[in-house]
Amino acid sequence: MTELARPFAETTATREIADLRRAVSGPVWDPGDVDVVAELAGFNLAPVHQPVAVLGATSAEDVAAAVRWARARGIGVGVVATGHADFSHRGVLVISTKRLDRCDVDPEARTVTVGAGVKWSRVLEAAVPHGLSAVTGSSSDVGVVGFSTGGGIGPIVSRFGYGADRVRRMRVVTGDGAVREVSPTEDPELFHAMLGGKDAAGIVVEMTVELVEMTRFYGGSIFFDAADASAVMHAWRRWQPTLTENTTTSIAILRMPDMEAVPPPLRGRTVVQLRVAHLGPEIEGLEVVSPMRRVATPILDMVEERPAAAMDAVHCDPTEPMPAWATGQFLQSVDDDTVDALLAAAGPQHELPLIMVELRAIGGKGMRGTAGCVPRSPFLVGIIAPMVPPLVEVVPAVAHGVLDALAPWSDGTVPVNFASPQTIAARPGACWSDEARARLVEVSRRVDPDGVLGGRRLGLR
Ligand SMILES: Cc1cc2nc3c(=O)[nH]c(=O)nc-3n(C[C@H](O)[C@H](O)[C@H](O)COP(=O)(O)OP(=O)(O)OC[C@H]3O[C@@H](n4cnc5c(N)ncnc54)[C@H](O)[C@@H]3O)c2cc1C
Repeated sequence: MTELARPFAETTATREIADLRRAVSGPVWDPGDVDVVAELAGFNLAPVHQPVAVLGATSAEDVAAAVRWARARGIGVGVVATGHADFSHRGVLVISTKRLDRCDVDPEARTVTVGAGVKWSRVLEAAVPHGLSAVTGSSSDVGVVGFSTGGGIGPIVSRFGYGADRVRRMRVVTGDGAVREVSPTEDPELFHAMLGGKDAAGIVVEMTVELVEMTRFYGGSIFFDAADASAVMHAWRRWQPTLTENTTTSIAILRMPDMEAVPPPLRGRTVVQLRVAHLGPEIEGLEVVSPMRRVATPILDMVEERPAAAMDAVHCDPTEPMPAWATGQFLQSVDDDTVDALLAAAGPQHELPLIMVELRAIGGKGMRGTAGCVPRSPFLVGIIAPMVPPLVEVVPAVAHGVLDALAPWSDGTVPVNFASPQTIAARPGACWSDEARARLVEVSRRVDPDGVLGGRRLGLR
């Protein structure tokens, strides 16, 4: 831009943003406003957003007016909810959904209806007094909508399926600026596309999700020393096929930071973490877990009977905001060679900038569910790394190297909830099967003809 053009462009931009302000009820911020940072701050400190403007949406009408405003000006639209993803929105209008905070449990129907800004922790609080619980992810700090629009694979997936499997209906604003009600019977193609397609076709304003009858479970984490990594991971591999779908498990190699937030026996150490959630009485859970307790002496055994709302204790994810980067891929099978390949690529003998390399078993209802366009495979490998300088330069290559080592067992797809921008760029379209991707692209073109929403970011258009 020339010196002469800049003041003109700035004046035009200011006028355009004033138009947006007039069209909506929620607050609108200019890109340079100091409050933008606070508005878009979430769990993940890695994104550096550079929006053309930010809207704090207060209703479906706000979202629709903002999408129409952006479309008319050839500007893209991004959405930020509880900020767990590591994507930086640049040169787009960002819609912040935190004011869409409805959270109403219907105990008769056993459902909860949430606004797009609501976290799972609020749903649990509201559901528990009715003897109900929710199919959350590993952390209840994550938003219901961000989780479910990415399929949503959590600590009780074997028994209750993906988060997407429990979604009953949504109110969605599509890229053409329309507000649409979608469900398995109302625009089923769009409903299907929204559950796994993230914001490729629409922005969810409200979602109704089925709750589950669950008051207690037997579960948590058992941490083993790095020296026992091979024995524990191979034992997990043999144990896994003996379990029913009442037991969901995963195993991770963790490189714990030397920080006060980490309990002393784990601080600064590389450990192996077994995660278990058994839906059944304690006496049964003790029996189920006993083979793993005999493999090696744990550093810390935190598996016990817990209230349903304590599901976060299964994975023990960090709760303090951090700059995080994630990737992953689905696996068709896990055998002894898979475990050896994982240990060879990411075992404790290596100094790697990866906080967590995990194998999650999905199985059961997770495999049989049919909702949405997310792949269904029996296992997934997930990787989390801190995204701080100078690691930013090396993390994607190191993490993709670990995924490559597991390629012989991969089905070629990537869980969209764990897909960093670098993974999307390196494996375009890999978040869906060929058939699911073709359907998703078709829906996205129908309801977002100018491609203003997330399709481009997700490598779909
Ligand atoms: C600690 C931690 C634990 C996690 N555990 C799991 C897990 O167990 N299982 C799992 O599947 N995932 C898990 N994730 C990944 C998480 O589900 C995704 O990062 C998800 O996108 C987070 O949603 P958000 O609202 O917090 O994120 P945001 O960063 O606010 O949004 C991320 C993306 O979600 C989509 N999105 C958000 N709101 C809307 C909307 N209203 N309409 C349409 N699309 C929208 C958009 O694509 C957006 O770019 C975890 C992430 C973290 C950091």
